[in-house]
Amino acid sequence: MYDIKSIYQPFSVEDAVNYLVENPEAVIIAGGSDVLISIRKGKLAGCSLLSIQSLQELKGVSLEQDESIKIGALTSFSNISESSVIQKYIPVLGEAVDEVGGPQIRNIGTIGGNISNGVTSADSASTLFSLNAELEIIGPQGKRIIPISEYYLAPGKVDLKKGELLTAVYIRKENYEGFKGKYIKYAMRNAMDIATLGCSVMCRLNKEKDEIAEVHLGFGVAAPVPIRCPKAEAAVTGMKISEELFEAFGKAAQGEVSPRNSWRASKDFRLHLVYELSKRALRESIIKCGGAING
Ligand SMILES: Cc1cc2nc3c(=O)[nH]c(=O)nc-3n(C[C@H](O)[C@H](O)[C@H](O)COP(=O)(O)OP(=O)(O)OC[C@H]3O[C@@H](n4cnc5c(N)ncnc54)[C@H](O)[C@@H]3O)c2cc1C
Repeated sequence: MYDIKSIYQPFSVEDAVNYLVENPEAVIIAGGSDVLISIRKGKLAGCSLLSIQSLQELKGVSLEQDESIKIGALTSFSNISESSVIQKYIPVLGEAVDEVGGPQIRNIGTIGGNISNGVTSADSASTLFSLNAELEIIGPQGKRIIPISEYYLAPGKVDLKKGELLTAVYIRKENYEGFKGKYIKYAMRNAMDIATLGCSVMCRLNKEKDEIAEVHLGFGVAAPVPIRCPKAEAAVTGMKISEELFEAFGKAAQGEVSPRNSWRASKDFRLHLVYELSKRALRESIIKCGGAING
């Protein structure tokens, strides 16, 4: 049994916003794979829930007129990886969300819930960082769009003001066109485990395919919230594909992260993963771009 005070199902996003304004203590529930566990554990016992499950307008993936990719906040992981738009334009995001939990969790868990829980290990987050994702948030003051890097305020805390909910994730054309990417999740076992470290690279090569034209590097569990590594990105932009490139990337990334000791892994081990996974993810991305790698 779940200890719940009340549950409200809104008819529209506007209705949801009005309910949140009148009931600021209410907890939004999407798939419920985090919220229900918190209720069961007692952390949210006795709460009022706002269930957004029935808001069809928050579900699905579409290619917009300006060729941005729009992912509704309520889109499940399974629907993301099965989407033809995702498979065609940003398969790396489908691969990343395929790493979440098991099939049941991927059928129920949503991308909105994955980033709104504010957790650094969220499997979609580092790839959304490396894709420069933008988030659409709707509240009593209307709509605002912010970069995902501004959404995370602290562990477990995201930038949602009174009455607001996350409605969609956008990936702009300039952040996927010509890019290929790779997400690597390091976990203690292959299935049903959260990341000890998650690393996501998006890269684009020059015309000759022998030099990095642009690269984005995102991490989960390398800091209290998901992060990008702008210094590592800058360090290798314009470099020829070579062993020095991978070394420079891995070493620079190590200098930008601040992982912690936890029961899952020590800080030193996570630092080693940062170095190794950033090199491997870049290597894989270069290969996907058609770049030649010797050895
Ligand atoms: C067995 C198990 C295994 C798991 N494995 C993984 C894993 O491998 N990788 C991983 O990343 N996660 C994992 N998770 C965590 C969880 O499944 C994901 O974080 C999931 O994406 C949460 O989505 P949800 O829709 O179920 O969120 P919910 O539980 O409904 O909500 C999560 C949080 O987000 C808020 N929220 C949800 N939607 C919105 C919105 N639209 N606007 C504003 N706030 C919102 C809620 O209020 C709540 O704070 C696992 C969970 C379980 C139970």
